[in-house]
Amino acid sequence: METTVKIKMGFSNKYQSGYPLLMKEAIANPQVLTEEGQCLNVVDEKGTYIGKGYYGRQNKGAGWILTNSQNDTIGQQLFDRKIIKAAGQRRSFFEDPYTTAFRLFNGEGDGIGGLTIDYFDGFYLINWYSEGIYRFKSEVVDALLKHTDCRGIYEKKRFATDGKYVEDDDFVTGERGEFPLIVQENGVNVAVYLNEGAMVGVFMDQRDVRKAIHDRYAEGRTVLNTFSYTGAFSVFASLGGAQKTTSVDLANRSLPKTIEQFSLNGLDYEAHDIIVEDVFKYFKRAERRGDRFGMVILDPPSFARSKKFTFSAAKDYVNLLQEAIAITEENGVIVASTNHSGVSPKKFRSFVDKAFKEMGEKYKITDTFSLPEDYRVHPAYPEGNYLKVLFIERV
Ligand code: SAH
Repeated sequence: METTVKIKMGFSNKYQSGYPLLMKEAIANPQVLTEEGQCLNVVDEKGTYIGKGYYGRQNKGAGWILTNSQNDTIGQQLFDRKIIKAAGQRRSFFEDPYTTAFRLFNGEGDGIGGLTIDYFDGFYLINWYSEGIYRFKSEVVDALLKHTDCRGIYEKKRFATDGKYVEDDDFVTGERGEFPLIVQENGVNVAVYLNEGAMVGVFMDQRDVRKAIHDRYAEGRTVLNTFSYTGAFSVFASLGGAQKTTSVDLANRSLPKTIEQFSLNGLDYEAHDIIVEDVFKYFKRAERRGDRFGMVILDPPSFARSKKFTFSAAKDYVNLLQEAIAITEENGVIVASTNHSGVSPKKFRSFVDKAFKEMGEKYKITDTFSLPEDYRVHPAYPEGNYLKVLFIERV
């Protein structure tokens, strides 16, 4: 049973050209949306066909269009086809013995908004971003079991209020993994936990950035890694020949998790600093002491609140950059990253420009990164490419 959703005429062109997100403000008859997971026939107010999709509430919208073809229906076949296609496009990842963790399916980029699937050495982790897409669990799990080589499946329900994670046993089917599961990224060992809260231990979208740090930037440098989480950037920097790394994160878990990641790669964690502290407090201390670094990595969350500080990437990134500039050596490099979708690449560059200009310092951007190849982006939904990373040399 399909429900007909009408798109306001002012938005018709946008949707006719393939825009996949059902925005609340574009829907003329929102009263027909009554149950998440409802299959939708999307037309404009004149009745011109647009596509088919589902109702699922996320912060960014009310659901997704999954196909523009009149012949499709939202069901098993469509899920099979999209997952088979996505797996085919990741062939080089499946065949790479040095990288055993990657994104198999990236939401609307692979044709199903609200759903991502990550691969970890034979295990799949499904992220459900709405209750609506969760209604298609059996179709998605079935498609994985039928069309991939699968040891086991885990899931994260990311649809509590505000897109927060629903605390649960995340095991779905197949073999139960033993955690930590040790996966490889470009030959480096990484510990992941698929059944311990929302975050698994590594953000795979930064893979190319870690590789650049390892291959081209770390050698001989002292590295400060802020918002370091499990210390992944520090491990790659250290393996890439960094003189020393310092990892700073507010969360207590970051200390044992970082020790684990270092140890897994035969590195002596005692030769590095792993500090549990608010980075803004750390910056002040480091500046007072006159500490300087050859490389400073900034990878903050889009929003964060600690006891003394609140941080919003849209409002406070210039200040964060200035804290970093103050303790970066001349010819040192700042790696500035944000995943805030409200900060465009252009705006992000303007933050860098403002930070350096206000401090009377000069800089050169030597590299830029966005999402890696396995994080496919929908051509009509470029805002899905949320990652912005700049390598900035202080000159
Ligand atoms: N750079 C990491 C991912 C960062 S996730 C990586 O590459 O894996 C964001 C991290 O910021 C979380 O671990 C969180 O604990 C930390 N964080 C948030 N606010 C902070 C603050 N004020 N000071 C230090 N760490 C903070």
